[in-house]
Amino acid sequence: MAKKQQSLFEADLPEWELDAASKVLAATVVMPSGATGEYDYAIPDNLADARYPETLVEPGRRIKVPFGNGNRQVVAYCVAVGIKETTKPLKEVAAVVDKASLVSPAMLRLTKWMAERYLTPWGKVLEGVVPSGVRGKAGTREVTLVSLPTRVAAKINALKLPPKQKAVINVLAGSPRPLTLQRVAELAGCTSAPVNALRKQGLVETQIERLETDRLLDEDGQTIERQQPKELNEDQQRTLDLVNESLESGKHETVLIHGVTGSGKTEVYIQAIEKVVSYGRQAIVLVPEISLTPQTVGRFRERFDKIAVLHSHLSDIDRHRHWRNIAAGKIQVVVGARSAIFAPTPHLGLVVIDEEHETSFKQETVPRYHARDVAIERTRNEKVPLLLASATPSLETWYRAQPEVPAQERFRLASMPRRIGGLPMPAVQTVNLQHEYQSSSRGAISRPLAIAMEQTLRDGGQTILLLNRRGYSTHLRCPSCNWKAECARCSVSMTFHRSNQYLLCHWCDKRSEVPQICPDCKSSKILFGGYGTQKLEAEVRARFRGATISRMDADTMRKPGSHERTLDDFREGKTQILLGTQMIAKGLDFPNVTLVGVINADSALNLPDFRAAERTFHLVTQVAGRTGRSDRGGRVLVQTFEPDNDAIVAAVGHDYTKFARNELPSRKAMGYPPFGALGRVVARGKSEPHVQAFIESLGEALTKTAEQQDIAMQTLGPAPAPIARLQDDFRYHYQMKAANRDDLLSIVSTCWNRIKLPDGVRAIVDLDPVDLM
Ligand code: ADP
Ligand code: ZN
Ligand code: ZN
Repeated sequence: MAKKQQSLFEADLPEWELDAASKVLAATVVMPSGATGEYDYAIPDNLADARYPETLVEPGRRIKVPFGNGNRQVVAYCVAVGIKETTKPLKEVAAVVDKASLVSPAMLRLTKWMAERYLTPWGKVLEGVVPSGVRGKAGTREVTLVSLPTRVAAKINALKLPPKQKAVINVLAGSPRPLTLQRVAELAGCTSAPVNALRKQGLVETQIERLETDRLLDEDGQTIERQQPKELNEDQQRTLDLVNESLESGKHETVLIHGVTGSGKTEVYIQAIEKVVSYGRQAIVLVPEISLTPQTVGRFRERFDKIAVLHSHLSDIDRHRHWRNIAAGKIQVVVGARSAIFAPTPHLGLVVIDEEHETSFKQETVPRYHARDVAIERTRNEKVPLLLASATPSLETWYRAQPEVPAQERFRLASMPRRIGGLPMPAVQTVNLQHEYQSSSRGAISRPLAIAMEQTLRDGGQTILLLNRRGYSTHLRCPSCNWKAECARCSVSMTFHRSNQYLLCHWCDKRSEVPQICPDCKSSKILFGGYGTQKLEAEVRARFRGATISRMDADTMRKPGSHERTLDDFREGKTQILLGTQMIAKGLDFPNVTLVGVINADSALNLPDFRAAERTFHLVTQVAGRTGRSDRGGRVLVQTFEPDNDAIVAAVGHDYTKFARNELPSRKAMGYPPFGALGRVVARGKSEPHVQAFIESLGEALTKTAEQQDIAMQTLGPAPAPIARLQDDFRYHYQMKAANRDDLLSIVSTCWNRIKLPDGVRAIVDLDPVDLM
């Protein structure tokens, strides 16, 4: 695989050096950006001396190498070291950047696998996986430590030295450990010159070390009361037994815990982790970023001494500190969003992915990996079990747990169909919006929902209202000429934000003023249509005067800590009605919530996405799960224009298996995942003809390659993407389906590695895409 580099000076080399070059100790490197190949460099003797570990070339460290014709020095990742036979002499490694390996051999294997699977150069994967705070060693600095060698200490009295140097020797002789250069100078009352003079004579030794600039307190330093494991019910015990069996087998296995909301899944996997920790290993728990609330984290703090929480707002310094503590084996449980799957645990015992169906486990920038797939690969390599937990598993996961899947690929399935304490599932009712619109006043809240809310207020219960759109009005229109307020840079409607009095594009954040008259026909009657959370809030305030209300969406949650504050107030009963976007749909556990209202269940149903029904089912089921969590009971009202839609009917009946039974056959008929592999190419650029011409020729090349390789491939497009313009770029996409992923990868990699992008056109390839817009 490694490409031999071209050397400019080959012909000038003396004979003897050519001979020597035939067998050399070489480092194979990959570049974090730019060149995509693997390159070999000779390792000079001084960088291959194990007595000096700080300057040892080793896989997993970054090194400096001369690159290209100009021999520009670049930093590259060393991925292998070994003896190479070569006829051409290799250029030499210039320097070692990292004093220790950043990436373990296991992580090198995993990132290489990712590089192949996601068609991303290995160096780019490494750069995406090693946090920048770790690469930059944030929060530490290098210091020079000075010490006195024993042979010198034994004869200090015999030394004839100038007074300043003598003072330095005396300071060092009186110190039990090496001192920093600065401290020595301070104590001896001199500059660093006498120390350097002594070093040159070999009378003192210096070494460079990296120290933490400030040893921070552990986390927030708050103490948390320890909780004991709960006595498990029958379903939980059966599930834990199955997980324990996997843990004891010493091999990799994936277990799917399918349990309704509130069935006690979390308690089960916490007890599994306790077992893993008891024999000295570490566990990684992945949760969606928005579920990383103090409540979630608190449940781990109650049970484990040493946890590290990795979320996207960590400073570089904290991230680096966690990384080092994890790598040193000081952490028992790593809890984090998708990138925590790369945590450098030395003895991994278990990986858990909670809410495994969540789309946030897919990364939408390079490397475009899915944390679930990476987790499967990592646990397979490290021979440990993987637990996936969800009330609404993704169909990809669900299918893998079915008997028709070959045994060696099959996930084990544990079902927990009942809530803890025998609590019933909440009663779910639909409200047909077609009837509502014909009968009553226009508002976001139907009459049945309003009545239920009044009753809940009277009974001292709390209400959650879900509306998955932020802003006030979601579109502006002129009724006389049909002008619509669209973003000037994107092909989407602008949303009116009343609090700031501007129109905002939710795709590119462009703001513009609200027109007083229609820009096309100058009519002064512009209509504000569509509901966002701001407008819903205004309606709720007007209708339920005196009630305490708060709103949770991306606009109100900008300030750090606002998320926690809003939820704390709600938990303490200070808020009676909490309304918001999907942020409030997931994972919250508040016993006093006796009513959940879904303002519009159909919002996702008509998107051009084969997962539209699945998304709708997930959202309705998850938000319904926020109620009925105590003996006060709970009910759910789902407003919809399509009460007979299969996904909505199944969600109303809390019937996941029914949903899967309905949905899987149509996936199969269409060859969509889990029955086939999907890939997508998106091209964008300022010139529409260029973008279009490029994607068309790429489409032809892909089709031709499929024919040459004798692989059946279905294609969709090329066509304008659903978001046809974004930030002034035109966007086109092309989708491919093949019976299995290897086939698809074979076709796409053949073409992808050959394409030449025309000037002004950018393109990405997304294998197993989640976002199809
Ligand atoms: P899930 O993860 O399935 O939503 P949780 O593990 O959060 O369910 O459990 C729901 C609630 O029941 C939590 O408040 C939890 O503390 C409690 N719980 C879980 N298991 C038990 C048990 N065996 N006995 C008593 N309470 C339990
Ligand atoms: Zn008009
Ligand atoms: Zn825009």
